Amino acid sequence: MAIDNPKYQKMLDNLIKVSKKNLSSVNEPLLTKAFELSLEAHKHDLRASGEPYFTHPYEVAMVVAEEFPLDDITIVSALLHDVVEDTEYTSDFLRREFGEEVFEIVDGVTKISGIFRGHEITKAENYRKLLLSMVKDVRVILVKFADRLHNMRTLEFVSPDKQRRIAQETLEIYAPFAHRFGLGKVKWELEDLAFKYLNKEAYEELARKLKSKRKDRESYIKKFADPIKQKLNEANLKYELSGRPKHLYSIYRKMVRRNKPFEEIYDLFAIRIILDTKNKNDCYTTLGIVNLVYLPVPDRFKDYISIPKTNNYQSIHTTVVGPEGRLVEVQIRTQEMHEVAEKGVAAHWRYKENKTATDNELEAWVNWIRDIFENTSRDDQRKELMESFKLNLYQDEIYVFTPKGDLRRLPVGSTPVDFAFDIHSKVGFHCIGAKIDGKIVPLDTQLQSGDQVEIISSKNQHPNRNWIKFVKTHKAKNEIRKWLNKEEQLIVDKGNEIWEKKIKKLKLSFTPDDILKLAHSNKYDNTRQFFKAVAQGTINLDEVLTASSKKEEKEFEKDVEFKKFANVARSDIGGILVDGKKSGIMYTYAKCCNPIPGDPVIGFITVGEGIKIHRKNCVNLVNLSTNDAEKLVDVQWPEGEGSLFVAGITIRGKDRPGILSDISHSIVTFQNTNIKSLNLNTNDSLFEGSVTLYVNNLEHLNRIMERIKRVPGVYTVERFESA
Ligand code: MN
Repeated sequence: MAIDNPKYQKMLDNLIKVSKKNLSSVNEPLLTKAFELSLEAHKHDLRASGEPYFTHPYEVAMVVAEEFPLDDITIVSALLHDVVEDTEYTSDFLRREFGEEVFEIVDGVTKISGIFRGHEITKAENYRKLLLSMVKDVRVILVKFADRLHNMRTLEFVSPDKQRRIAQETLEIYAPFAHRFGLGKVKWELEDLAFKYLNKEAYEELARKLKSKRKDRESYIKKFADPIKQKLNEANLKYELSGRPKHLYSIYRKMVRRNKPFEEIYDLFAIRIILDTKNKNDCYTTLGIVNLVYLPVPDRFKDYISIPKTNNYQSIHTTVVGPEGRLVEVQIRTQEMHEVAEKGVAAHWRYKENKTATDNELEAWVNWIRDIFENTSRDDQRKELMESFKLNLYQDEIYVFTPKGDLRRLPVGSTPVDFAFDIHSKVGFHCIGAKIDGKIVPLDTQLQSGDQVEIISSKNQHPNRNWIKFVKTHKAKNEIRKWLNKEEQLIVDKGNEIWEKKIKKLKLSFTPDDILKLAHSNKYDNTRQFFKAVAQGTINLDEVLTASSKKEEKEFEKDVEFKKFANVARSDIGGILVDGKKSGIMYTYAKCCNPIPGDPVIGFITVGEGIKIHRKNCVNLVNLSTNDAEKLVDVQWPEGEGSLFVAGITIRGKDRPGILSDISHSIVTFQNTNIKSLNLNTNDSLFEGSVTLYVNNLEHLNRIMERIKRVPGVYTVERFESA
């Protein structure tokens, strides 16, 4: 690409000239390359004004080179800022041809342009922060300011609708921003342009009035200044005396705020004396001269030279009574002081605007920028300073949109769950999913500034313990914890209830200390956890109580013995039918009643252990609360179940020699039934014994019990259940 049109060659030369004037080093080949690419990329496009589109990026680059001469990379980026969005060139191409920095700046400018599209601005302050939170490089903002400034200067060519929208955005977002960045000149121009399009009538009336008063004003200032000038000259001071520039929008704003007519606002004259000296004492000499000529108003004197404002603003302000009794404010400062005040910095916003915590960061950052603006020749430090551009100003905050377009502020790293709780705790409790910009995302997705977030909720959804791991906001964390604790309390209460019932039934008594000991001996940290385990069925109270009981009751011995075998025998059973179907649902047999095939059974749905199969006449089921009765489910034994079940029987009778052998014989001779254990205890002439044996089903057990009953000396034979 070469530039064959002399018009464009002249434009390029001019841009290079201005850049070189304001920067200590300029990469001319890179600038030329960017100029050529931008010209080529936009060659078929026109602006609304009918001019070639290229005039826009060019003017933007000129604004940067003239007003924010930070470095050549910013100027290159300004030339290319619309290439990716409006032409067929990709951002990858830019990265390859112009490097990572240019790529990132152009990318940043493109992104923030997208944010404001399609959203009505409701809370301007949030938008300003949104903008900042998206910007990782201060140069993005500078290009954006320049872009906006040129678009405002050429706003007359677009539709009235668009004019209003752009002007509104400029007034609410960009102008306050420029103000905070200390870019006073840009701010005033943006404001006046926005004012012109937002309130044409007021703008034109003010402009007309100002113009008609100009001669009047100039002659008054001359009348006021002449005697002062004379004395300053006599004192051999070099100075510049001027009426302070008036900006239409700031006059208008004062009129509205003070509810006063133009004439009254306008009549507050103000002049500024800038001394060409390094000696600040000259300022006091000047003050003396002014006060000698006109009577000062005592309350209106301020000496910011002895006590500068915290942002280094230095000047003397005094108000005096001028000719015709009009009040005139006089500002006196040296040239250097003036530079500091004009180039801006935080001078204005620090005192006039509401401060938030992050404004301190902004201030520090603005100071960096000022430092660079004023010391562009300090090449040795530039590299280091460049690194500081990479700071993300609002790095601890993001701004996301609700579906209605409201902005929400959240900490960085926030997820849709945080967003949901930020909206309302009810939304948080029931959120099951989220959409970002219309796409469904997992709940632990980290939100980015500018995302539009929509929460999908369902009444049946509840907070999940996992959420704690990824939520960022205190609110979400607290609410989830609160909910989980409440839920846990219900489980603990339930476990407590089961416990009370059980020990009542066993006629045991426990002190709170005893319960804690029991919990500890079962490796639970506290009673709560123990009760929780009871409710969830992860601990078997029968076993725990048996083990803990020091009483050598036969009933318990029997029980333990029984269970040892019962567990072994049942480990490989499968195929219980739930509601007549094989279900695949996990189930276990209740150890309280030890059902065997043939027993009428019923299932009880537990937490964590699937279905517990009880005998229908199990005492534990009889005692169920109505609430728990809902957890019962119909189950049937499967047909032709071939497994062996352990059953237990208790035998009582008259002790005699050989009775043990007779009983065991009556068992093993029936269908090769196996005995698992056999215990007999004698007491005087009576005996009581327990036998556990493997049976196929209830019929099998009943046949054996009949046979035992026929053994001489046996009085009773009963199937036993655990306590
Ligand atoms: Mn643009």
